[in-house]
Amino acid sequence: MPLPSIAGQEESRALFSRALANNSLPQSILIHGPAGVGKERLGLWLAQMIVCPAREGGEPCRACSACRMVERLEHPDVHWFFPLPRPDGASTPEKLGERLEEMRAEELQRWREAPLRVAEHEKAPAHFLAAVRTIQRIASKRPAMGSNAVFVIGDAELMVPQESSQEAANAFLKLLEEPPPAATIILTSSQPGALLPTIRSRVFAVRALPVPAEELTRLLVEGKVAPPELAAKVVERARGSVRRAIRAIAEVNGAPDSERAAGRELLIAALTSGAVARLAAANSRAPSGGRSTLAGELDSLGLWLRDLAAVCAGSREQVADPEALPLLDRAVSRRGVTAEAVVRSMGYVTEARALALGNVNPQLIVADLLAKLQKELIGEAAAAGSAR
Ligand SMILES: [Zn+2]
Repeated sequence: MPLPSIAGQEESRALFSRALANNSLPQSILIHGPAGVGKERLGLWLAQMIVCPAREGGEPCRACSACRMVERLEHPDVHWFFPLPRPDGASTPEKLGERLEEMRAEELQRWREAPLRVAEHEKAPAHFLAAVRTIQRIASKRPAMGSNAVFVIGDAELMVPQESSQEAANAFLKLLEEPPPAATIILTSSQPGALLPTIRSRVFAVRALPVPAEELTRLLVEGKVAPPELAAKVVERARGSVRRAIRAIAEVNGAPDSERAAGRELLIAALTSGAVARLAAANSRAPSGGRSTLAGELDSLGLWLRDLAAVCAGSREQVADPEALPLLDRAVSRRGVTAEAVVRSMGYVTEARALALGNVNPQLIVADLLAKLQKELIGEAAAAGSAR
């Protein structure tokens, strides 16, 4: 399936389009902004603008062979790199580089099959030195089709905190400093502060914004991930993030049933006074590993809390899954949960999710998070005794 048309980002697109028209587009660009709003998609749109010989009115033509190849992620001069988990069993840098290229090809195939998806990895992904070397190697060659090559490098900050990262970052710095004349390098990052200052100082930074609700709805419907009614419903909760909307749809559709159920269990534990439920929830998980599982479960808990906030605010119609209502209603009527407490709780979940993607013991993350949520959500009720 080709990429659906880009949603939102009108200002950045106009800026890029003017720069291209004036022949003044910088060769090293950083697209930064909130997570999940489509920064890499914007990078691919810009790549399409660069390689399309018939762009007009500030848009690529979307009809020429170059455009169609970009939208099928098959253009030989548009190179999309994203962080990948470290492959097993690559004993030499050459083998690692080859294996990473195989994994990138597999991942690109998954994007072709489902352009509106959320990439998940069991192990924390990174940009490895071997991948940077691959980028350098491709960039040093002449473009295959036209006169330009474009590199879109997602989550560029993940070049820093991983092993051999300094070397990867330095190798990359060289490329940004002196890009080959035909190359445009587009980095994206939702944490630009984590990029090396030396990288930040070499790129022209453009900010991507949350996608407006109507644009996001259109994208979800056109991309065939949700019928209009469901799309409109999840968009209200997605706050301009395509990724959040896709996750919410998956929840409603019941795709990751286990995550949805796990998020529910966590919420119930948070609404139950005493340490027993809390510790049971923490101890039921493995003390290490399972990063993406816990992160997914915490995303699910976040959506449960969003629904709970909606019920607190009297907006029961915003809850996408009617089967969730009895639990949420009980939390409000019997536990006296307030909207303010729920909003504060969401902040704790976000913090815990960041920890879950790092090297912190999942049991500790869950135990600590549930203690905070119990205090926020039912603190007073628990202190008042068990009469209710
Ligand atoms: Zn075109």
